[in-house]
Amino acid sequence: MRIVTFEDQHGRRVGVLDGEAVADVTAVDGGLPVEMIDLIALGASGLDRLRSAFESAPRLAPASLHLLAPIPRPRKNVMAVGRNYRDHAKEFSDSGFDASEKQMIPDHPVVFTKAPTSVIGPGVPIDTANDPLGTTDYEGELAFIIGAPAKSVSRERAMDHVYGYTIVNDVTARDLQKQHVQWFIGKSPDTFCPMGPCITTIDELPDIGSSWLRTWVNGELRQEAPISALIFDVPTLIAALSSVMTLEPGDIVATGTGLGVGIGFDPPRYMQPGDLVEVAIDGIGVLSNPVI
Ligand code: MG
Repeated sequence: MRIVTFEDQHGRRVGVLDGEAVADVTAVDGGLPVEMIDLIALGASGLDRLRSAFESAPRLAPASLHLLAPIPRPRKNVMAVGRNYRDHAKEFSDSGFDASEKQMIPDHPVVFTKAPTSVIGPGVPIDTANDPLGTTDYEGELAFIIGAPAKSVSRERAMDHVYGYTIVNDVTARDLQKQHVQWFIGKSPDTFCPMGPCITTIDELPDIGSSWLRTWVNGELRQEAPISALIFDVPTLIAALSSVMTLEPGDIVATGTGLGVGIGFDPPRYMQPGDLVEVAIDGIGVLSNPVI
């Protein structure tokens, strides 16, 4: 299933995509949570109820509603992985971003976080006014959502703890990222974490490695990478994170971006007001956001 959070004149709730239409599942099952986080916490029983409700739920036309980020306000920071595709790690290194960085390809996952307040949904503008230095860059990424709590989980068992996948645009204020050394500020301006359009449940994407990640700016293809090119794949990331901390239902981990970000060009091609950035992953959809 492709599960969304949407809003119309009756309020905000979860739904299930049926093509372009949204099946209004909570209209036929009043016991279903309206919030995605609460649905995820129900695990398999919630998915069973969702499947049953999907059959008879009324279909809502896309024009009658707004899709929000699948998890509009994460309970904790969005986790994200840096330098997780070889050719992006090289372009980042070649850009001279951090001359003190001795090692282009990391031995262990490089994990940072983005503030929950940076999350926006599909179609909501990325506001470059929140980046005073004017170096706003895009990073199309696959993100996975934790289902069952995970602590000290092996690679082999890791996928049992994944609820599904979504798309994150890890928008970055490059000069702030550099200036403050630690990446949190440069990664966390308001509107700098577009997410969506849906969460595709894990059963529908058993082989995420065969999906491709693509990013366009104003229709120009800038990024194109197979998910199989990740240096640290999803099970490896879960094993590393859960070896020290409890991952909880609804936690979001963006897995890193591929070759072709703005800072990789000479001169850099940062986003400008009026641009449109679109990120697509097979089996999930297209996350599209204008830039203001
Ligand atoms: Mg990133």
